[in-house]
Amino acid sequence: MARKIICGKCGNCYRRKIYYNRDKTIRSIEWKCSTSAVNKKGCPDSIAIKESVIIDKAIDEIYRRYGLTIEIDNKNIKDLEVKDMIDRYVDRIEIINETVIVLLLD
Ligand SMILES: [Zn+2]
Repeated sequence: MARKIICGKCGNCYRRKIYYNRDKTIRSIEWKCSTSAVNKKGCPDSIAIKESVIIDKAIDEIYRRYGLTIEIDNKNIKDLEVKDMIDRYVDRIEIINETVIVLLLD
């Protein structure tokens, strides 16, 4: 499933990163180009993006295509409902700057 999230700049996968508060609660979950995660100069124009932004966009696209409303409590890509939704409807998600392009399966 994570392989579906692709950097529009270099074509490599995006990888998930969780940021914690001091008390170990989650502050934010972001996705970042794995090329730039290894070497910032490797893909200098790519940006990190919040997971909730990716999920909102995927839900919007699925709604537009299929007229399905998906109620999701936990907007987390590891959440089973979200995971199932992405596996079932999404071919890949390309991230170019702050633009999230969701390509659905036919
Ligand atoms: Zn990249």
